[in-house]
Amino acid sequence: SNTASIIDGKAIAQQMRNELAEEVAEFIQNNSVTPCLAAVLVGEDPASEVYVRNKRRACEHANIDSQLHRLPADITQDDLLALVTKLNKDDAVHGILVQLPLPAGLDADLILQAISPSKDVDAFHPTNVGRMVQGKPRFLPCTPHGVMQLLDRSGVDTAGKHAVVVGRSDIVGKPLAVLLAARGVDCTVTVCHSRTADLGYHTRQADILIAAIGKPEFITGDMIKPGAVVIDVGVNRTDAGLVGDVEFASASQVAGLITPVPGGVGPMTIAMLLVNTLRAAQSLEQ
Ligand code: NDP
Repeated sequence: SNTASIIDGKAIAQQMRNELAEEVAEFIQNNSVTPCLAAVLVGEDPASEVYVRNKRRACEHANIDSQLHRLPADITQDDLLALVTKLNKDDAVHGILVQLPLPAGLDADLILQAISPSKDVDAFHPTNVGRMVQGKPRFLPCTPHGVMQLLDRSGVDTAGKHAVVVGRSDIVGKPLAVLLAARGVDCTVTVCHSRTADLGYHTRQADILIAAIGKPEFITGDMIKPGAVVIDVGVNRTDAGLVGDVEFASASQVAGLITPVPGGVGPMTIAMLLVNTLRAAQSLEQ
């Protein structure tokens, strides 16, 4: 029986972070300025605390400065906007990220639109989304960019291949569909979602299958074309631990290449945030 090869996201992310650290060192030497990421954390969501801590730690390892702006959950929209405006104007800050989700009562769209597009390292600002769709990206959103890097650095041939993306969120599925169909990547793309009729019919057509659903082990081996490349974006906390959106045991009997969870897409996301922070510093300083 077949056993898929593993795409080692942890190793690929580490390699990218090593490359980045060299570029950061060179940047600091040439500009006498250290790239700096400002993270804004509102309220006390435990998962958000972990994400922000991991992002700051990764910055530290890459020699990128980071600031943490902690705000109480009951902060007003105007006070949060005032902080974003202040960070936009602060020449020492190159990248700004507002950790989502925001507490109830705050309008995330409005806050994200207030971030200067040139400092928008999450790439959620409509200007940056629009530029990506037009094939002239300034920043790419971190998780979709991480998936594209995994494909590229695993030597996956994408031109003319049928990519099926399950999920259409603004953060993962939708941008991935755009990037996979972009000139130079050249996949033929199908986007599936909760209203898709006969999901398995579509997923079985996929040469490249991307699961970004948020449902534990939802994609099973019988839904996968033999030899397909399977990228599992899902991160689901269950009683059995952290699992993806793909049932790894059955999927790895059918797929040709597959990402594990954890150790697949997850480590790439933070690496791409560091890349965007350096790019922001480069374009603001040079
Ligand atoms: P969302 O909940 O925003 O989107 C989920 C998508 O899956 C929606 O488009 C939804 O369809 C679709 N969906 C839900 N149920 C089904 C179904 N039964 N059949 C087909 N499609 C379905 O999630 P995100 O996109 O934000 O995240 C997806 C997963 O990726 C989550 O597990 C999340 O934790 C993980 N994630 C991981 C990251 C990482 O760094 N590794 C970063 C970000 C997310 P509809 O639009 O119709 O509702």
